[in-house]
Amino acid sequence: MGLVTTIRCDGHGCSAEKRVANHWWVVSMQMSNDGVPVLMVTPLKDKDSLDPIQSSLYLCGEECVLKTVSKFMTPHGDPLRMTEMG
Ligand SMILES: [Zn+2]
Repeated sequence: MGLVTTIRCDGHGCSAEKRVANHWWVVSMQMSNDGVPVLMVTPLKDKDSLDPIQSSLYLCGEECVLKTVSKFMTPHGDPLRMTEMG
């Protein structure tokens, strides 16, 4: 309640709106100290929606998370960039 910002799924070809009851996920990519990209998947909490995380994807569920992970695993895959392009 009191949530004004509408969050839409960042999954490719998906624009689902976040609703209170949905279990969403935040996927972000970071670089390890060795320069290896690390994909982080964390549950989206309500407080996160009030403070959008830069360079992170909001995904509506398992299907969109798996699509993003699949992109990440392809050679030179960059799920964050690919979503911006798509
Ligand atoms: Zn989605």
